[in-house]
Amino acid sequence: MVLVDDFGREVTGVRISLTDRCNFDCVYCHNEGLGDTRGPMDASDEEMSADDVVRFLEVVEEYGVEKVKFTGGEPMLRADLEEIIRRTPDSMETSLTTNGTFLGDRAEDLVAAGLDRVNVSQDALDPEAFAQITKSGAYDKVTEGVKAAVDAGLTPVKLNMVVFTKTAGHVEEMVEYVAENPGLQLQLIQYMPELTGKPEWNIDIERVHRWLTDLADEVEVRDMHHRRRYYVGEGMVEIVDPVENPEFCANCHRVRVTHEGYLKGCLNRNDDLRPMGEMTREDIRETFEAVVENRVPYYGEYLVRDGDDGWTINEEYIGA
Ligand code: SF4
Repeated sequence: MVLVDDFGREVTGVRISLTDRCNFDCVYCHNEGLGDTRGPMDASDEEMSADDVVRFLEVVEEYGVEKVKFTGGEPMLRADLEEIIRRTPDSMETSLTTNGTFLGDRAEDLVAAGLDRVNVSQDALDPEAFAQITKSGAYDKVTEGVKAAVDAGLTPVKLNMVVFTKTAGHVEEMVEYVAENPGLQLQLIQYMPELTGKPEWNIDIERVHRWLTDLADEVEVRDMHHRRRYYVGEGMVEIVDPVENPEFCANCHRVRVTHEGYLKGCLNRNDDLRPMGEMTREDIRETFEAVVENRVPYYGEYLVRDGDDGWTINEEYIGA
């Protein structure tokens, strides 16, 4: 039985952060502290164990959840990622968001374990710009990782690029790159100034839409979020623009899980975190049902227009 929130949104997916550790330090990232990033290792004390993650997935499978995305931090810093994916219920589509550093060595094992899809963050095709944005010298490793993912059959591999002042000059070459590589797709992610505290890095995402509309051979509008897909050469480019976008939130079907095992109904809120107790099946059931019951769309419901072209918290949710 699929759970539906008060706004008619079915919950069909979960997004699980397996760690907040990361071997990159991207300038736009909101994580604080990188943690121990020497390489893939066992789960740390505060991270959910593989058993906890699998138990959670088995419970939400009962509620008709059909998709799981593993994220971080950098989820490949977990040495037991392959084990977790192998033990994920077969009925679920399994995907991974990664910075790609460790894919070269592990893409084949991940596929053998049951991974269906992968998103790799790649903010520039130029090693120097890449190093400036990610504070990492792993450019070659990431490029190799993307190739390994394509070779392992994880196609189309989605490249994620955050569009802001420091990457805007690289969008064109990235679009050309995917246009020539049928195994790749590009997701241009709108920059979220509220997460970095650097509003001056923002750029108008509509400009990118207009530029792509002129450039594309074909534009398709998808039902989900009314997202537009631009077909250029052999490639496909999508813009993910959730900021101040009530339509995006009205079509949000995912519940989040933090690496510490807290559930949350919305990525943008931290006031809706719920711990899953001892993570027994009953604890998980109760918490999952409560989180879905309390989910609200962020833009347009939790935040409403303040009459001055800005947003303000809906009074209904203050102190709720
Ligand atoms: S802001 Fe919250 S409600 Fe809106 S799409 Fe993101 S997670 Fe869903």
